[in-house]
Amino acid sequence: MKKKKKEKKEKSIRDRVEVCPICFSIVKRSPQIFDVNSTFHCTNSDCGWSGSFAVEVDIDDYKQFLVDKQKNNGANKNSRDEP
Ligand SMILES: [Zn+2]
Repeated sequence: MKKKKKEKKEKSIRDRVEVCPICFSIVKRSPQIFDVNSTFHCTNSDCGWSGSFAVEVDIDDYKQFLVDKQKNNGANKNSRDEP
């Protein structure tokens, strides 16, 4: 009989992404350990945020967030057409 210890461990490690707290784009982690004041850099060039912390989200939540964001954008456009 085998215990499914491995499976349990894999479950606890979920895919996570780090996103910008300003624009919620994916951030890059700085490879330099010395650079403690700006560990994260926003990949959105329009934003250009960098800082020592980022918002860590579950990748599934993030995907859902992007879908919701698109929906909201569409809704805003529609509501603008309304008088
Ligand atoms: Zn940003």
